[in-house]
Amino acid sequence: AEEALRQSQKMEAVGQLVSGLAHDFNNVLGAVVAAFDMIRRRGDDPERVSRFAEAGIQAAKRGAKLTSQLLAFSRTQRIELTPLFVCDVIEKIEDLLARTLGPLIELDLALNPEPVAVLADATQVEMTVLNLALNARDAMPEGGQLFIGTAVQHIAADPELEPGKYIELTIRDTGQGMDEDTLRKALDPFFTTKPVGKGTGLGLAQVYGSARQSGGTVRIDSKLGRGTTVRVFFPATDQAATRHLHENTAAHKGPS
Ligand code: ADP
Repeated sequence: AEEALRQSQKMEAVGQLVSGLAHDFNNVLGAVVAAFDMIRRRGDDPERVSRFAEAGIQAAKRGAKLTSQLLAFSRTQRIELTPLFVCDVIEKIEDLLARTLGPLIELDLALNPEPVAVLADATQVEMTVLNLALNARDAMPEGGQLFIGTAVQHIAADPELEPGKYIELTIRDTGQGMDEDTLRKALDPFFTTKPVGKGTGLGLAQVYGSARQSGGTVRIDSKLGRGTTVRVFFPATDQAATRHLHENTAAHKGPS
């Protein structure tokens, strides 16, 4: 759970880092454009051409350094798919969830041990539950109900999912819901309706990204003023998983 919290904080840090980098990168591009512009206008003066070309090269190098910083950062996030039970993961962060939601939100956990395991990264699943719970909390400032549960689903035909057996994680809140426009953009990275400093727009992008990584997907139903239901699908695996609370080892791994 500590690891999931750390990862969530890291995602927030990534959001800030990326918007900072995007800003710096824009400045760099501005410098490159200005250098080319001067070269075009002063092409008759070799001394100036060489000076502006040098300025352009330096700016482009700063840009390359910025992107390599971002790449180095993203490489530190290692994903390890192991057979696990989604219920175990939720149970492990139950206390953290209750504390995060506060007294105004009634948490309804339906943790029936699933008959099959899924192949997923335990930390990513923790982050998924946490991110969805945080969104639900933000959607219920005056309180409400949050249901979290899992069920087996057989998918026959679906545009995104291979036919087969899935574990469906459902997170349903009685919050303010989303209008159609918000719902359409909700999964996009950096899309947020929350004030600066509060939302990064990376929560649902993480949920979607990690679901896709394990071969699943995310579906959202929402009604303005009524509430939101997020369903995350994880393909079931034949691999055996030990039914216990998962100890996470991802934190001890260095960059690849
Ligand atoms: P963030 O929470 O940082 O804004 P997310 O990607 O988690 O980023 O969510 C994107 C947007 O989707 C939110 O800003 C909000 O408008 C909407 N949203 C997500 N979850 C819910 C929810 N449970 N109820 C209402 N709106 C939601």
